[in-house]
Amino acid sequence: MGFVPWRYVNSWYCNGCGLCCREFEVVLTFNEWLNITKTYGAGVTRAGLNKFYMGKKSDGSCIFLYAVPDGRRLCGLQNNKPIACKVWPFKILNKPKYGGANEALFNYNGQNLFVYIDPFCPGIRWGPPSTELIYKVIPEFIEVASGLRQKQFYSTMRMTPRFYMFYKKY
Ligand code: SF4
Ligand code: SF4
Repeated sequence: MGFVPWRYVNSWYCNGCGLCCREFEVVLTFNEWLNITKTYGAGVTRAGLNKFYMGKKSDGSCIFLYAVPDGRRLCGLQNNKPIACKVWPFKILNKPKYGGANEALFNYNGQNLFVYIDPFCPGIRWGPPSTELIYKVIPEFIEVASGLRQKQFYSTMRMTPRFYMFYKKY
C-alpha cells in the first residue's frame, strides 16, 4: 500500500515496536555516514551502488536498535538519528506525489506542503485529524524534515517516567 494523505489520519503515536527499524533500509546522507563511521567505525554501515546504508544485525534489524525490558525497542543513536529515521513514517513534499493532493495539502506558516504517511506504521489511528496531529505532530515533522528543529517530542516515541528509568540504565 502506498503513502496516504494526512487528512485520513486521526493521530500518530510511536509505540516503540521497532518494526520500521527492521523492515526498511535506512539511506544515509554522506555527512551522516561520515559522522557515524567516525564514531562507530565503518562496520556499522553498508555501502550500496551509489548510497550508504545503516548496517543490520543478522535478524534484519538495525545495528543500533535494542530492546528495553518493557518490550519496546529503542534507537541507540537517539538525537543523532539519520534524517530518514527522524521523519519516518511521514513524507513532507513540495508537490503532491502519491495522489490525493487536496487531502495531502498542509499549510505550514503560509507555505503549502504535501504531507503523507506510510500506513505500514502501527502507530497510526485512522479517522478525522485530531488537533494534536494538526498543531503539534505534523508541524514538528515539517520542522525536523526542513532542519529547523533538532529535538523531537511529538515526532518520536514519547518518554514516560517508567520508560525514562529504563532508558537511563542503558
Ligand atoms: S514509528 Fe511506527 S513502526 Fe516505527 S517503532 Fe514507532 S510505531 Fe513502530
Ligand atoms: S538508526 Fe535508530 S531509528 Fe534508525 S533504523 Fe536504526 S535504530 Fe531505528
